Amino acid sequence: TQQSQDEMMRIFNEKRKLIDSGQIAEAQFIVVSISMQPALSLAETFCIPPESALKKLTGYFKRLGADLVVDMNVADDFVLLEAQEEFIERYRMKADGSKSALPMLASSCPGWVCYAEKTHGSYILPYISTTKSPQQVMGSLVKNYLPQYLKDSNRPIYHVTVMPCYDKKLEASREDFFDSTTNTRDVDCVITAIELEQLILSERKNLAEEEEGELDWPFPGEKSTLHLTSSLGSGSGGYAHHIFLHAAKELFPDQQASLEFKALRNQDFQEVTLEKDGKVVLRFGIANGFRNIQNLVQKLKRNKCSYDYVEIMACPSGCLNGGAQIRPKDGTSPKEMISKLEALYRQLPLKAKPECNDAVNTLYDTLLGGRNSDKKKALLHTKYHALEKNSNALNIKW
Ligand code: SF4
Repeated sequence: TQQSQDEMMRIFNEKRKLIDSGQIAEAQFIVVSISMQPALSLAETFCIPPESALKKLTGYFKRLGADLVVDMNVADDFVLLEAQEEFIERYRMKADGSKSALPMLASSCPGWVCYAEKTHGSYILPYISTTKSPQQVMGSLVKNYLPQYLKDSNRPIYHVTVMPCYDKKLEASREDFFDSTTNTRDVDCVITAIELEQLILSERKNLAEEEEGELDWPFPGEKSTLHLTSSLGSGSGGYAHHIFLHAAKELFPDQQASLEFKALRNQDFQEVTLEKDGKVVLRFGIANGFRNIQNLVQKLKRNKCSYDYVEIMACPSGCLNGGAQIRPKDGTSPKEMISKLEALYRQLPLKAKPECNDAVNTLYDTLLGGRNSDKKKALLHTKYHALEKNSNALNIKW
């Protein structure tokens, strides 16, 4: 039952009973982190503007008994900053002769990571970025930063994330994200858009009827008012676009980088290059869906992969089209549904540069003990496991 709606509702009910009987100190402190894609799915399904849908979801969780409801922007920014840093490190390792430093393959999609571990294990794992996914970075922050924020409270923290696919439940259940000293997971329960729709409808309620609630801001510095934002590039996080621009600026400051991704075989396989003196110096790709992933892996195995970085997502069209986003209704085709979600996504305000996130910068200096500390590596990075034999892990310096 772990990772299910029933489990989450049991925790909310238990908490209510403890509070009603005056045992507040023993009641779980429940934190809910909501990602952008399911918020858009619920907005489209219940015909509510996205920002209002997010606030109504906040109201829904607060009515159930959540103590804090937050968006995922701080975690998203940590992931972009860590991934861009990791890419530069790997690029330099490749220049120094390391054979498995590049291409760096994105790691935020557990569908892809599980497939790689099971099917191509020891060969492919060194290429997968060690940066944790936004869900797991959020988990690290909730379980490691919030106890400081809550100061004298010893209430156990229960962390729920709202996600677009069932694979995020598998990710949250990985041994790597279980703390044996506190005997808890960084993410205790993952609820998907489709499960939330069922829960809301089981109360015979339309999300539109829910009271709006205010998202919380437990992080340092001024409260952010932008909760749902878009990135340049994909609705899965815009990793390829962001890291490409950063790498071009950092490694080839004299070159003018133009961010024009070209579709190759299909819309789900795209690439962009940066040239210097007529030679390609950066080649980035986006591969969505298993057909494209399999092609890419075969190229890598035959030593014919010319990419420096590939943003890989298991779902065609990426996370907006996740397997647990709400199914279209009233004769709308899946293709029309994804077009509607992409249109909603493009209307969101553009995300500010992650370097400008004051909360993130403060947390690097305080919670994480600096940008090169072991603590930062432990809380923001992870490792992968070949299921057939041990992989040769890359020794990345931080
Ligand atoms: Fe989940 Fe699909 Fe996104 Fe991968 S691409 S994280 S499987 S929604």
